[in-house]
Amino acid sequence: MKRLAILGSTGSIGTQALDVVAAHPDLFEVEVLSAHSNDKLLIEQAKKFSPNAVIVTDEKKYEKVKAALSSLPIKVFSGPHALMEVVQWESVDVVLAAIVGFAGLHSVLAAIDAGKTVALANKETLVVAGELVMSLAQLRKVSIIPVDSEHSAIFQCLTGEHKTAIEKIILTASGGPFLGKKPNFLVNVKASHALQHPNWTMGAKITIDSATLMNKGLEMIEAKWLFGLNNDQIEVVVHRESILHSFVQFCDGSIKAQMGLPDMKLPIQYALGYPQRIQNDFPRFSFKNYSKFHFDAPDYKTFRNLAIAKEAMEKGGNVPCVMNAANELVVDSFLKNKVGFLEMSDVIEKVMEKITFIEHPSLEDYEKSDREARILAAELIKKSQLSVY
Ligand code: NAD
Ligand code: MG
Repeated sequence: MKRLAILGSTGSIGTQALDVVAAHPDLFEVEVLSAHSNDKLLIEQAKKFSPNAVIVTDEKKYEKVKAALSSLPIKVFSGPHALMEVVQWESVDVVLAAIVGFAGLHSVLAAIDAGKTVALANKETLVVAGELVMSLAQLRKVSIIPVDSEHSAIFQCLTGEHKTAIEKIILTASGGPFLGKKPNFLVNVKASHALQHPNWTMGAKITIDSATLMNKGLEMIEAKWLFGLNNDQIEVVVHRESILHSFVQFCDGSIKAQMGLPDMKLPIQYALGYPQRIQNDFPRFSFKNYSKFHFDAPDYKTFRNLAIAKEAMEKGGNVPCVMNAANELVVDSFLKNKVGFLEMSDVIEKVMEKITFIEHPSLEDYEKSDREARILAAELIKKSQLSVY
């Protein structure tokens, strides 16, 4: 029986993880649930799964959650610091990190520091502070099991292989809803268009990142740290069917891939169950439904975020952290129709140019770079709005 802390339980990954848990009550027990502001769903989940503790990080929601659960033996905490404490509890075996964005970093570091196995969905954690996170994991001898489908695929391909035998990895990208489109089309797209992903149903932020290809850029950086790769060992190929979830090419030229229907429950279940494979009744892939698979080079010119992320990965230091912060802010603004689709890349690029470079940042440096990048991005968006109206 594994005792789980599910951070971000009300999100797309969190709710699917709870479906996996509900299907295997003999294997998993929920010890902790956390959410930011969706008090209604958090209360419902707590009543169903009876965790030892729930954390609602938005302090305004604390009284409501506390009152709703007062008759049950469930501890209720609030604020980001509570997250860092509960993940370290003796009674937690595995932490599923499914908070979105930089906000998930500190709880991942706290979990690793306490020696907990981390099932990692929160890719921004490795984008921001990959070096810090992985060196702490090494020090504490902690396993980080990827949940992101591409990284789960690579992780599965590497089972039984030696790290030094990797020649390169090839991350697959669906291409998102605007595959094949050019800037004259993209200039007019709104959040409602960009939220229509062809293959995956996900949270709003990652869905926009998939439309701009920033998601694949973040995943390149995530892969670099997870698998200890050099920048030139990471490639991206567009595979619009999202059936081959990524490839590893070895030093003898042999290539392994992992395949399956695009359903995040699969990599979530794999990460929670690892090293065991768990039987399930999810729909199976059939070749009868797919007469062809397509593979294309990504369009780095139109989808500039992919080129920007590659540049950030190559520059290293605090640059990926700065890029991530600017991206979080522009995506939020795009969702509120405050910035255009193509302008998002302009803002991120300008922020990256302006922030002071730090080659080996500390945690405090990352926090400062994140704050400064957000302020700068907000100013740039404000200015661009003034020049339009
Ligand atoms: P989501 O927006 O659906 O859910 C995010 C969760 O984080 C919610 O429970 C929310 O309450 C919580 N949260 C938000 N802001 C918070 C804050 N400031 N402090 C504490 N908690 C906060 O997001 P998602 O799609 O489930 O994605 C979660 C993470 O997993 C992201 O990093 C994403 O890139 C990654 N991921 C998601 C998918 C997917 O299919 N959804 C696939 C691969 C990777
Ligand atoms: Mg992915």
